[in-house]
Amino acid sequence: MLWLVQLRVAQTIDDTEAEGPGRRFALWVQGCSLRCPGCCNPEMFAADRQGTLQDPAELAARILAAPGLEGLSVLGGEPTEQAEGVAQVCRLVRAAGLSVMVYSGYTLAELQARRDPHVDALLTHTDLLVDGRYDQTRPERARRWLGSSNQVMHFLSNRYRPDDPRFQAPNTVELRMVNGQLTINGWPQAADAFRRR
Ligand code: SF4
Repeated sequence: MLWLVQLRVAQTIDDTEAEGPGRRFALWVQGCSLRCPGCCNPEMFAADRQGTLQDPAELAARILAAPGLEGLSVLGGEPTEQAEGVAQVCRLVRAAGLSVMVYSGYTLAELQARRDPHVDALLTHTDLLVDGRYDQTRPERARRWLGSSNQVMHFLSNRYRPDDPRFQAPNTVELRMVNGQLTINGWPQAADAFRRR
């Protein structure tokens, strides 16, 4: 089944352990109007011309075909600026048993105040939400998977608990060669330091 809505995707990694608990498919969506100073993905600001258009059902099928995954992490770019398509992907993979983690530059209160049915649907299909702008003056040094200390991890379902030992482990970065190019993902400060070398 093809959805009418298309999702503009910046990048994907089929299997990473640096973007949330367990082995996860990481999906970076294209487009973010927040433009936080120091954002580690400025190439994902533009909402058009960059990235590739993908069908949410086909993308979900690709995620579900990857073996051994615990979940999907959606990063950006800003997932709620393509809320309808992202919500479709999250609904489908979660219905098949994967967990869903979403990074948004908006706070949970801001998202709820929008009263946008697609944003509400996205939150309904999210287990873990990391919220808030990236503040480069307040780098997060202790909590795993967060970029700056103003950001909050919200447990929106019973799928995860804050006392899960994996949430206390040190942050990680991953380096891989893709089509002859070095890609870096994971903890923003460390990934940024690698990029500047
Ligand atoms: S919200 Fe995220 S993707 Fe958007 S500018 Fe801020 S850090 Fe970058």
